Amino acid sequence: MEKKQSEENKVKQNLEQLAKLQVILSEIDSIQQLRGDLPLEIERLEKALEMLIEDVTKKSNEMDQNNANFNENNAIIEKNKSTIEVWEKKLKSAKDNSEYRTLTDNIEFLNLDINDKEKKNDELLENLQNIKDTIAEKKIEETTIKEDLQSKKEKLDNIIKETEKKELELSKKAEAIQTKMAKEKELLNTFFKIRNKIFNHKAIVALQPNEVCGGCFNKIPPQIQVEILQNKKIIYCEHCGCMITTKEAFN
Ligand SMILES: [Zn+2]
Repeated sequence: MEKKQSEENKVKQNLEQLAKLQVILSEIDSIQQLRGDLPLEIERLEKALEMLIEDVTKKSNEMDQNNANFNENNAIIEKNKSTIEVWEKKLKSAKDNSEYRTLTDNIEFLNLDINDKEKKNDELLENLQNIKDTIAEKKIEETTIKEDLQSKKEKLDNIIKETEKKELELSKKAEAIQTKMAKEKELLNTFFKIRNKIFNHKAIVALQPNEVCGGCFNKIPPQIQVEILQNKKIIYCEHCGCMITTKEAFN
């Protein structure tokens, strides 16, 4: 009899502790709700910025390669031109037709090569402009993202600054209750499982004066109400699954 009594007492105490824990956790929830989507938004923007910077680096490398090819072609063109100049001089003093033919063939070959390289350089110039345009666009995008990121970070920082002390206090209180309830591991696990599953994260609620569950506001059958008021065992709402206890447990 005595043992049963102490068991029942323990249930009551546990319910009171869980109610206390729930009140604290709900306060932490509302603090975190103030932050809204900001942490996620910041993460998304940081990723976008990282990708953008990567893109700009790739484009800059492409531009360097483009410029190197252009310069290389120019050097060949210049070299060809001076070779042609030399050969044109030689042409005037060609000893025979054969030498003349060889020289004109060589000059023609070099001229074709010059044409080819000039055409390639035109393409490179056009490409260079495209790359520059792309980089400019990406830089504008980068600035926009950076500004957005900055303002969202400031907003979040302000919210955190205003609430972090309070949140820390609450977290410590919540931890203290959990430490106190260390022997009730299973009950705590159930509590947190319900908390994670339920939409308002309230794992334990009070029976309302109008005989409804404080979580889902569905009517509680009279027999269950009696059991809740007795505090002898843990009662779960048959509609939403949360624990239901007395209003007094929350005091
Ligand atoms: Zn309910």
